[in-house]
Amino acid sequence: MLHSPPSYSPMFEYVDCNLCGANDYRVLYPSTIDETSAGALSYFRQSDPNNLNCRIVVCNRCGLAYSNPREKQELLNDVYRSVEDEEYLKQRSWKEASYRWNLARLERHVAGGRLLDFGCGHGFFLSLLGDRWDGYGVEPARAAARYASEIIGQNVYCGFLDEHNFDTGTFDAVTMFHVLEHVANPKGELGRINGLLKPGGYVYLEVPDLGSVLSRWRKRRWWYIMRFHTYYFTRSSLLRIVRAAGFELVDVHRPVKTWSVAYLTRKATAFVPRLAVAERVLAPSRLGAVNVNVNLRDILGVIARKERPSYGGAG
Ligand SMILES: [Zn+2]
Repeated sequence: MLHSPPSYSPMFEYVDCNLCGANDYRVLYPSTIDETSAGALSYFRQSDPNNLNCRIVVCNRCGLAYSNPREKQELLNDVYRSVEDEEYLKQRSWKEASYRWNLARLERHVAGGRLLDFGCGHGFFLSLLGDRWDGYGVEPARAAARYASEIIGQNVYCGFLDEHNFDTGTFDAVTMFHVLEHVANPKGELGRINGLLKPGGYVYLEVPDLGSVLSRWRKRRWWYIMRFHTYYFTRSSLLRIVRAAGFELVDVHRPVKTWSVAYLTRKATAFVPRLAVAERVLAPSRLGAVNVNVNLRDILGVIARKERPSYGGAG
């Protein structure tokens, strides 16, 4: 079914499928926000338990799911520049434990070199890179970028990827942890990353998996259904978009996460609301700060290699 837009607030825009370009979709979940009203931006908090969502549609041609209509890119960009999430700093110990897992996974394929972490947040991942790596970060959130460069001491550029003139073909690895589902043009960003990598360089992506058992069970109450997720990948659509950007897949996996007991309890309130009481008790306690490894299998990790140019049969 082809669609023509009804009139919404000028803050919203309709978009075609980012992967195949079609305007041919079915609605997966209806919108739970009022697109006719302004003031959208105040809703944004990564830790906001109120999972509002734009209308989510699935492309009939290629299966990519995306928010449509969605907040305009310039508004989203303003949100990302101004967001401050102090909660995040308290989560450093277990975020780092998760990132250590990611780094070990990446190092199975590439042991060192120049690395760019796009959407590096407060620089936690960069801070774990050992001497073998020369790490750089790009982060649009001003507060997080400042923290990463001033407090953690990393090479972090504030802004979006296209606002910085990194030399093309100079990185051995680019990482994007829970970033691709936020961008306005994932195929374009992956193409840009492909250009930044050396031939044979690696990209490591981590995104929520819309095709996971938890997602299909919880439907629009799945915790990754949220207003500022512009794309919702499944294993199939993620692999297609990565290949379309000039990569070959080398490692598709379910990353292990480390959470504090308090955070685990908070996640569990999605199923058992009464646990909110327990979370309030645990949050400031020593037990609440204990870290545990979990794998709910609703996240996809993909490591892919930039294809080397072929020389027409030479060699
Ligand atoms: Zn499509």
